[in-house]
Amino acid sequence: MILREFKAGRIYQGGLVKGKEIIDGLVEVMKRHDISAGMISGLGAVSEAQIGYFDGQSKSYQKMVFHEHMEIVSLKGNISFKDNEVFPHLHVVFSRRDFSTVGGHLFAGSKVYAFEFEIVSFEGKTFTRGFDEDTGLFLWKG
Ligand code: ZN
Repeated sequence: MILREFKAGRIYQGGLVKGKEIIDGLVEVMKRHDISAGMISGLGAVSEAQIGYFDGQSKSYQKMVFHEHMEIVSLKGNISFKDNEVFPHLHVVFSRRDFSTVGGHLFAGSKVYAFEFEIVSFEGKTFTRGFDEDTGLFLWKG
């Protein structure tokens, strides 16, 4: 187990403009406000998106790109460091025209139609991600 206690710091609420790439927009906020640990939530809609499913057999992501308008039913994530950069790890559930849902790990390439988010920054020593041989994932190492 890895566990660390933080104190809740500043809380931000905001929106990203239509056409903005979601991860880029969130990283801009984190860098501008010096947020290196915390949690993220959001909702809204996208005009296109890329999500992934991690296959534990091949230890690789199967990625899928959606070129359609979808609701962001739920986006949640955490903030830590990876490769000496602040890194948001985001998962998302989208709903489609027929009300079915798709979801997974959010990759770059998701364009905002409308997006509202909250970021709760944490005060304390930020987790750093490192490659984990056992899972093939970049997990919190310390
Ligand atoms: Zn993930």
